[in-house]
Amino acid sequence: MPVPFESRTALEVARVLGNSEIAGRALDTPAQLDVLLAPWPYSGRRDHDAAEARAVAGLRHQLITLWDAERDATADLANAILVTHGTAPQLVRHDGTDWHLHAVAPDQPLAARIAVETAMAFVDLVRAGETDRCRRCADQTCLHLFFDESRNRSRRFCSTQCQARVNVAAYRARRT
Ligand SMILES: [Zn+2]
Ligand SMILES: [Zn+2]
Repeated sequence: MPVPFESRTALEVARVLGNSEIAGRALDTPAQLDVLLAPWPYSGRRDHDAAEARAVAGLRHQLITLWDAERDATADLANAILVTHGTAPQLVRHDGTDWHLHAVAPDQPLAARIAVETAMAFVDLVRAGETDRCRRCADQTCLHLFFDESRNRSRRFCSTQCQARVNVAAYRARRT
């Protein structure tokens, strides 16, 4: 069962927001929020104020918890988010995209929409048995979130830089 593109987009947003928290990046101005979301522009309501940025910042911990959770816990967490926000799934077509699912009205605050769209993406992963693709970098100095798209689910690092750093350290350790 393939994961639909809107879910992949929601997972990318969750990954980037989670990593901004893990990296200790501040998120309390509209400009900081715009930089993070630039590659994945959310349609619908945007307030472009500090309150909106802080609400999204406050969501980051929950997104990381979802990312780290085992499959059964993921299902419980996603269900809790969907109940809290009172979702109303709608098929929509906009901005050149074909029919896809929006689970929450476009006039809801951005943080609420990110929470619900992320929960919906994890609903897809739970159903598809793919939650274990949401991983943490094996470099203990990094621990960033990444989505493993490899066929045999063998990816261990968030980036080739982290992989190279750990390989070099292991090589040096063997030589001493
Ligand atoms: Zn859309
Ligand atoms: Zn890494």
